[in-house]
Amino acid sequence: MTHRRTVLITGAAGGIGRAIVAEFQRQGWQVIGWDRVPYPESYPKPGWFQQVDVADPAAVDAALQRVRAHVDRLHALVNNAAIQIAKPLLETTLQDWDTVQAVNVRAAFWLSRQAYPLLARAAQEGENAAIVHVASVHAVATSANIAAYAASKGALLALTRAMAIEWAPAGIRVNAVLPGAVDTPMLRAGLARGHLAAHDVDAQLAELAQRTVIGRVAQPHEIARIIYVLADDHWSSFVTGAGWLVDGGATARLSTE
Ligand code: NAD
Repeated sequence: MTHRRTVLITGAAGGIGRAIVAEFQRQGWQVIGWDRVPYPESYPKPGWFQQVDVADPAAVDAALQRVRAHVDRLHALVNNAAIQIAKPLLETTLQDWDTVQAVNVRAAFWLSRQAYPLLARAAQEGENAAIVHVASVHAVATSANIAAYAASKGALLALTRAMAIEWAPAGIRVNAVLPGAVDTPMLRAGLARGHLAAHDVDAQLAELAQRTVIGRVAQPHEIARIIYVLADDHWSSFVTGAGWLVDGGATARLSTE
């Protein structure tokens, strides 16, 4: 059994996911990455990658079983996988709704619940044990045509508080990050759809950048580093049940200004 700390990261192959993998590896952790798509060849791979659909509880259970064959504890879990369906409420189908909630909230609940014994084991041994959910600014302020996604992220923030309370006695801290606009495939795909679709994506990105106090959108590593801080007891041992806005000040400014 290795003495290195181990983290399981979902959505590892995505824009922010790849940066989270890189950050934990830079900090010397053993990284297990999960995604429903293969890990891109052009990026440094996590130590171990499994192709898993986190919305499928049976697939999650089977993949965790394989994890348990290699490690007897987890020091951190990052629930980062998500999908976005950008549609007006009146065009959102029940299937759209369920698909979004299944990936963005239900999977975070189920994987955390099933991984609990591995995290509790680390805590019992006096080692790091933390969960970080990747929520969104849409948990606290939103816009038109993204209701299913916004509701899923609001639920994830509520789940963060509930988990923090129930699992504190086991020594597991649970927090969320709420990123604003980050330059990833999800952001670009979102801009290419919905009510803003008429404009060119780069022009929209520039427009979006102007709306933050800092004056630009984030790069994925700027989110990954905050996730790392919330996952590592060294930096955040007294932080649990919290949501950390990482939005360049976007939600600090009144939209009526
Ligand atoms: P992304 O689309 O680049 O990455 C998401 C990853 O999740 C993808 O690799 C995708 O394959 C994976 N995924 C989706 N459904 C899955 C499933 N069922 N099982 C396993 N993997 C699955 O998006 P991103 O921007 O890197 O987003 C990462 C996280 O950050 C998400 O939780 C997202 O909601 C959040 N976020 C992003 C932004 C932004 O502006 N990009 C802003 C706020 C929050």
